[in-house]
Amino acid sequence: MPKKQKESAPSKKSGFVKIQDGIHVYVGGSGSTNFGLILTKEKPVVIDNDIRCRKEFTTGMKKITKKQPGILFNTHHNFDHTSDNGYYHKMGVMSFGNSFAVEEMYREENEGIWVKQMVGRGPKVEHLLKTLKVDPPKVIFENLLTIEYGGRIFQLIYIDHCHTKGDSVIWMPKEKVLFAGDLLTYKTHPVNRLGNFHNWISAFKILEEFPAKHIIPGHGPMPPTGKKIIQDNKKMFLKLKNDTGRALKKYTTPAKAAENVHLREYEKWFRYPLVKANAHKMAQEIKRKNRK
Ligand SMILES: [Zn+2]
Repeated sequence: MPKKQKESAPSKKSGFVKIQDGIHVYVGGSGSTNFGLILTKEKPVVIDNDIRCRKEFTTGMKKITKKQPGILFNTHHNFDHTSDNGYYHKMGVMSFGNSFAVEEMYREENEGIWVKQMVGRGPKVEHLLKTLKVDPPKVIFENLLTIEYGGRIFQLIYIDHCHTKGDSVIWMPKEKVLFAGDLLTYKTHPVNRLGNFHNWISAFKILEEFPAKHIIPGHGPMPPTGKKIIQDNKKMFLKLKNDTGRALKKYTTPAKAAENVHLREYEKWFRYPLVKANAHKMAQEIKRKNRK
């Protein structure tokens, strides 16, 4: 009998991983943000960025290619995916993103929270409070945009309001690689401050439609090839929904219900403390739905 393949433990290490020829992912380590770097016959393409880890990313990038990036894609608006757009714009990079992502960046800037919301969450941002502005993507799409560049095809596809309002994926049909942004995380609890769990659970069905060989999550280590990562996410979300629903029957208020949801079987996933906030959000959604 062949030995059962052991699943590798979540990686705490940051650094570049090669997915296919010319397709690299900077894995954030310990569940922090992942970025893409795709070599083409023209200049490289970068997917997402974060000013807080510019140095780590660009140092690694220079070991892979001597060329400067030519194109940048944003999967959604969050600071940890777009805060270094300005760095790329300054070198003449053309950037692409969804219209909702652009709206959300301006909303957070107008509310004065763009940088402020990141204080105390990982690397220091205090020195950026007064100086860093949002720098939204230049080319804005609504539902779908296909780009042929340097011998590769990239499709930017808007999915739905799930993790944020502008959640989009980048699909490479020839290579069968799907950059899922924060619609998918691997062995890492999702963030749902601005999202919608109901839409999110439905979106897994859409993600399953892609004949993907490699799926790149927005956070967490690289998953095994294939689509199991979608199943893993769906299973966790449904367990969260189920346990929260049960707690809500017993404890009535969303806050009290959330305190009693533990998801112990997901204790080893990164960002486990997020379970409480996620259960709270889920409980509010269930309550709203029951009222209708
Ligand atoms: Zn993220």
